[in-house]
Amino acid sequence: MADKLTAEQRSWNMSRIRSKNTTPEKEVRSMLHRMGYRFSLHRKDLTGRPDIVMPKHRTVIFVHGCFWHLHAGCDKGRIPATRREFWERKLKGNAKRDKQHLRTLRQLGWRVITVWECDVERNGEKVARRLSRLLNSATGHDSH
Ligand SMILES: [Zn+2]
Repeated sequence: MADKLTAEQRSWNMSRIRSKNTTPEKEVRSMLHRMGYRFSLHRKDLTGRPDIVMPKHRTVIFVHGCFWHLHAGCDKGRIPATRREFWERKLKGNAKRDKQHLRTLRQLGWRVITVWECDVERNGEKVARRLSRLLNSATGHDSH
């Protein structure tokens, strides 16, 4: 099977694999791992299927792509000018769902932390510090 791949296809696959290894979500996971935190992934039984679940800290973490989750005030979180109506409906729908998930999870007693893609890309260290600060404070709530 692999022999049938052209050189271009193979390098495309490789670049896909590489980029997949550096998604913001994986970055955050390895941050937490380095800091010694334990977590589980994508618990299907939880509202909104948070990316990272930390039962011991009663905390869930969403790692959001700025475009798909309409990061307010972010360059990547803008509604495209082409097919604007379509995107507006779709992206605002996502953002609205995010808010509902957040509210439901908080009602269930979870602390919810949202990490944005652009923050991870720009300053991973800062994100790590924020996470450790929040996770170390028993009552800490996320003001971000
Ligand atoms: Zn952003």
